[in-house]
Amino acid sequence: MQYIVGIDVGGMSAKSGLFSLEGELLCQACVKTNASDGFDKTVSNVAALVKELAQKANIAFSDVAAIGAGVPGVVNSQSGVVLRWSNFAWDNVPFAERLSALTGKPVYIANDANVAALGEARFGATSQYQSSILLTLGTGIGGGMVFDGKLLEGYQSAGAELGHITIREGGLSCACGRKGCYEKYASATALVRQTRHAMVENLQSGMWKLVDGKIQNVDGKTAFTAARQGDETAKKVIEQFVDYVAEGIADFVNILRPEAFVLGGGIANEGEEFFEPLRKAVDKRTYIAMDIVPLKIVGAKLGNKAGIYGAYSIAKDKII
Ligand SMILES: [Zn+2]
Repeated sequence: MQYIVGIDVGGMSAKSGLFSLEGELLCQACVKTNASDGFDKTVSNVAALVKELAQKANIAFSDVAAIGAGVPGVVNSQSGVVLRWSNFAWDNVPFAERLSALTGKPVYIANDANVAALGEARFGATSQYQSSILLTLGTGIGGGMVFDGKLLEGYQSAGAELGHITIREGGLSCACGRKGCYEKYASATALVRQTRHAMVENLQSGMWKLVDGKIQNVDGKTAFTAARQGDETAKKVIEQFVDYVAEGIADFVNILRPEAFVLGGGIANEGEEFFEPLRKAVDKRTYIAMDIVPLKIVGAKLGNKAGIYGAYSIAKDKII
């Protein structure tokens, strides 16, 4: 029996899953990567994690056929070189080659957000569609595009930075150097900021009660919860936020027209109270309406396992 290891490498920790060749998740393990200790230490921690996973699953290490990994940053998936590792000043680090040398296995890597999109497309919410785009509304907006079952990554895999299209010209400054980026308006971070702003402007809002009068307690759920209770200020916050999310989706639809969008992050758990108005807001903005060409907008299913499923998938595609 042969196996594939899928790894989701983060700044603080790496999650891994042992898969059968057919894609059944058999065992999981996690390790602190201590990325602040440097690149060499990070790779050796990940290599140790793979060995530990095989041990935990009680299989011979020689039965691991390949390793796939999602890595944060600009990751050239052809060469296996991380051109720029997010959050650390590591440029041009040969992650795949180094991990392969330490484990004796072929290693295939791609950007972590792209890998998560592939995971959802193969095993999650969009598995029945030929083309899908994942948007994860978190601290920023991450995502990936899958067309005809393959990742659309751009030249040297440096595209698909979906959070950095401009939706408000001259708008809020983004760390990327532009103003008005999508993620400054439609991420979970943005929703929290918008909620706080509305509360300060509306001291009578029921949202104050929800957070015990402390604005630092506001999170991505505050406005949704208050809107459900009928709070008018909260309803307006959600309405505006939905419009922001729709602006970006409509742009991607007009250019790429996937069959489906899958939204990840905590906000996607708000269910139809988020998705129903979102579909309407997107439909109002797209050039080709949904009654002419259908478009699905759904919530992610795999949660934080999307990365390991996607990592399995990139390795599986290479070795089969
Ligand atoms: Zn930006």
